[in-house]
Amino acid sequence: MSIDFSLSPELEEIRTTTRDFIENVVKPAEAKIDEEDRKSLIDGIIEMRTEAQKRGLWMPHMPKEWGGMGLRHVELAMVQAESAKSRFGPFAINCQAPDEGNMHTLLHWGTDEQKQKYLKPLCDGIARSCFAMTEPEVAGSDPTLIQTNAYQDGDEWVINGHKWFISQARRATFAILICRTEEQPEIKQAANTAFIIDLPAEGWNDVREIETMHGGTGHSEIVIDDLRVHDRQMLGGRGQGHLLGQYRLGPARLAHCMRWIAQAEMALDMMVDRSLHRFSHGSLLAEKQGVQWMIADSAMELYQSKLMVLHAAYKIDRGEDFKTEVSMAKHFVANSLNRIIDRAIQVHGALGYSKDTPLVDMYAHARWARFADGADEIHQMRIAERTIAAYKDHGTTKTATGDLPI
Ligand SMILES: Cc1cc2nc3c(=O)[nH]c(=O)nc-3n(C[C@H](O)[C@H](O)[C@H](O)COP(=O)(O)OP(=O)(O)OC[C@H]3O[C@@H](n4cnc5c(N)ncnc54)[C@H](O)[C@@H]3O)c2cc1C
Repeated sequence: MSIDFSLSPELEEIRTTTRDFIENVVKPAEAKIDEEDRKSLIDGIIEMRTEAQKRGLWMPHMPKEWGGMGLRHVELAMVQAESAKSRFGPFAINCQAPDEGNMHTLLHWGTDEQKQKYLKPLCDGIARSCFAMTEPEVAGSDPTLIQTNAYQDGDEWVINGHKWFISQARRATFAILICRTEEQPEIKQAANTAFIIDLPAEGWNDVREIETMHGGTGHSEIVIDDLRVHDRQMLGGRGQGHLLGQYRLGPARLAHCMRWIAQAEMALDMMVDRSLHRFSHGSLLAEKQGVQWMIADSAMELYQSKLMVLHAAYKIDRGEDFKTEVSMAKHFVANSLNRIIDRAIQVHGALGYSKDTPLVDMYAHARWARFADGADEIHQMRIAERTIAAYKDHGTTKTATGDLPI
């Protein structure tokens, strides 16, 4: 097995084009946006997206026949990692969560009619979507507990339930909603079904946007009251909602990791830059062993993060089982990101705690990485299960640690 990290000249060009686009188009446009003013936000995003399309930077995760760049996952990693150097970067090239995961889901599970009606406008950048699974009453970590219920009434389904933390719900033109439809499933993972809901809809009540650590940026609580949906709005088969959710999360988790790497790299760059300009007790911070340890630990963690993401992406591209590698990457990158930003704040002192640098905002966003899309402990549980199974099956844990040739 050979792993070659060099890029072809065409891919190197895509990478430099993305970097240039983020530096010279997105960051200046971002600086002009007043987020309190909806018009300013929309105008800013349109400006970025128009320029992105001109430069051929549009949906790196989607196949060319859907208007995307047709990149494989290893190639996608470098575009995502460049684009996430700015908060608006992924929006500018139309690969932001949750639309990105919903595009993959519709592409894989949608009927031709559903793809035309829902996937195409998402790809054209004229629609937004949300994914509604988590509920306040039961642990989101265990989707077999979902209580939102759908029962059949003729050729319609009637849905009642309660969801929360539904990102982008107020801006979405449709939702992918996960409900319980089977009371006696053969296995507990076969109880749920996904439906596509056109929004706004009677019975879909967006009762509030939840204020979070990073502000109130669009995660809604939804009360669903006798919402009626036609049978043709079912996405995937009956009882396949759990499978669909898992399918959606695999590549979506890795895409998050790619973007988190960009944020971690920014934090490390800032840490080093500050240490080279701040003088205390006779020398620069960069010359203090205590600060060097923080820099070294961060550099090692970022290097490991990059290798894990690239290797997991490589396994996806080769059609190999990638579940363990993606779980490991998701856990490791999320935790490294939190530690690296925390150290960057430490090295900046009071400045790091202020909103004069982006570190505070980055820190608040990074915190949810450790429990959303699979909490740390759930990934650890699955990694341990597969490691034990590997040992039982092969007498060695080798296949559970990347199955590498060493
Ligand atoms: C910013 C943000 C955006 C989100 N966007 C969406 C969205 O668009 N759509 C959507 O449906 N959801 C969304 N979520 C919800 C997210 O997916 C859930 O928070 C996540 O699945 C965890 O579920 P929970 O919050 O109910 O935590 P719980 O399942 O209650 O878990 C809480 C904690 O308990 C521990 N725990 C749970 N189970 C186990 C176990 N088996 N073993 C050991 N420890 C365990 C873990 O420490 C975990 O962090 C979002 C959340 C955030 C913060």
